[in-house]
Formats: sequence, structure tokens, C-alpha cells
Amino acid sequence: MPTAPADPADFSRRLLAWYDDHGRHDLPWKRSRDRYRIWVSEIMLQQTRVETVLDYYARFLAAFPDVHALARAEADAVLALWAGLGYYARARNLHRAAQQVVAVHGGDFPDDIDALTALPGIGRSTAAAILALSSGARHAICDGNVRRVLSRVHRVEGDPAASATQARLWRLAEAHTPDRRVDDYTQAIMDLGATVCMRRPRCALCPVRSLCAGFAAGDADAFPWPRTRRARPRRQAGFLLLRDARGRLLLERRPPAGIWGGLWCPPEVGDDILGWIRQRFGTAPACWQDEPPVLHGFTHFELEIRPRSAVLGDTYADGGAVGDQAALRWHDHEQLAGAGLPAPFRKLIDQSGG
Ligand code: SF4
Repeated sequence: MPTAPADPADFSRRLLAWYDDHGRHDLPWKRSRDRYRIWVSEIMLQQTRVETVLDYYARFLAAFPDVHALARAEADAVLALWAGLGYYARARNLHRAAQQVVAVHGGDFPDDIDALTALPGIGRSTAAAILALSSGARHAICDGNVRRVLSRVHRVEGDPAASATQARLWRLAEAHTPDRRVDDYTQAIMDLGATVCMRRPRCALCPVRSLCAGFAAGDADAFPWPRTRRARPRRQAGFLLLRDARGRLLLERRPPAGIWGGLWCPPEVGDDILGWIRQRFGTAPACWQDEPPVLHGFTHFELEIRPRSAVLGDTYADGGAVGDQAALRWHDHEQLAGAGLPAPFRKLIDQSGG
């Protein structure tokens, strides 16, 4: 399918003029050329809306104002500040990357794009954005917003996940990136995708409308093509909401790899919850019951969380299973409020009385 020729120089000129008047200049990460701050914002903004990120970003930077502070932090403290944002691998990678920046690069983020992409969690587009926004170096970005804009401007056909489609979009992204004001252009095309060329495009407000093949053909919202998706498989897992007589809730630190890796969650138990409790506390719970299941979507599967709540009586012996150094810990109300719980558990626990 032929595509309309969008003149790259005209495209960037129009976009930059629009950005000067209508860009989101007040976002906190735009006031900085500091690579650490830009990097944190870029990672938080992956898969997450600006409005959601704002509070998390402020709290994260207050706790970890520079890469050294983040590198020194305990993993738990990093995850706690990420709790609710989802995609927790981002937080673990952020922490590991900070440690590498300090250990390998003396605390300075490298100028070289290959060295940046070698850090955990930094892909090609994120590295390009960090360099373009911090120093104006000419690097093309091709994140979700840019892919959506360019798919429409050029009516790019094909499964967006296919490597041929991605390669084409990267070539277009390169061709559209100007030699000057690369930092502003990078912000501008991200802003255009986030505020005008949205899932439902607002073409009447668009500064590049006259260059857009999708607009000219009247089918802009058919691009990018929907992904060829297979139905996500469903898994089931039982989780135990166990309280002691003082109302404290038992949490377990999950293994570092896998879903919610490294986070504190209610223990994942099999069907035999009585056996699980007896093995660790030498007693049966005073009472227990099944709670309604909760469905939670991950990228590649759905998880049916089957919660069971139970309460221990006055006397039990944990036999060393629970403690500060162990993977199991009792959390009182205050500790629960500060714990980095994944969103579905936070909701479940709040519903069951905090
Ligand atoms: Fe997107 Fe419409 Fe602008 Fe084309 S004209 S880039 S579809 S908002």
C-alpha cells in the first residue's frame, strides 16, 4: 500500500511550532536536564499515564534524589515506592541499573547509546530519549506514542509486533527527527501522541494534519493495526490472608524472579491451607473461609487469585518461621500501609479490614 510522502522538515517545523504553544511544559521532568531524573520519568511513563505517574515521581525523587541514593537503597524501599504502578520488573531494573551506573560509570550516566542500552531495563527508545532530552543529541525515539503517530501519518500496515513493521517505523522515526531542537522535537512528538493523536485521534487539533495520509484517507483510527493476539491463558493460585489474634497480617517475600518478584504478598499456598498453617505454626486456625476470587491480568496470562482468610488463636509457635530475617513477617496496620503490595492484594486487604 503506498503512503503519502510526509515531508520530514515540514513535519518537524509544524510540530515544534505547535509544541511551543501547546506542549506540556509544566511536567516536572521537563524542567530538568538531569539524566537521572529523565531516566526515572521515562521508566515510570512506560505503560503508565502521566496523571498516574506525577505523584509516584515526586515521592520517588524525594526518597532517592540522585542515582547514588537509589543505588544505596534497600530493594524493599524501592519496591514500596513503586507499589500500585505495576510492571514491577521496571522497579527492580531501575534499582539494578542505578547500582551499575555507580559501580561501572562512577555515578554518571554514559553518553554512549550502546552503553546506556546495556543497563537493565533501558531499551533503544528509552536510551535515545534520555540522550536527546538531557543533551539534545540527535537520537530518534520510537515509543508507543511515536509509533501511533507515524503509523497514521504514513498509514503503516501490518502487525505492530512484527519485526518488519517495527523496522519500518524505526526508519520513519529516524527520517523525521530533525538536526536541531532534538530535545524539543522528542517532547513534542510524545506530547502529540499523548494529547492529540490518541487512541481516538483529535485530528481537528493536529498541527501535522495536512501531512497525514491517515487523515487524508479518512481512516486514521484504523492505524496502527490491532495486534494479532492469542487468547491469554488463565492460571489459578491460592493466597492466604492469615491474621494473628492481634490483627497482624502475615506477608511473604516472593522469590526475586517471577510475578511480583521481591514484593511482599500474602503467602501463596496450595489447597491444603490447614497443612500449610500447621506446618509453620503447629496449630490449626481458629477460623477460616474462602473469599471471592479476583482476576488479575498480566501481559501473557490472567491470574485467578483465590484468597482464603484465616485467623490464628491466642497461642501458637512459629518455630522460627516468622521474623525479620525470614521470608515470612507479620505486618501490623501501620506496616501494611507502608508495604509495597501489588494492587490486587492492596485492594483485597483493604476490603478485609486493612
Ligand atoms: Fe494523528 Fe489525526 Fe494528526 Fe494524523 S491528523 S497525526 S491521525 S491526530
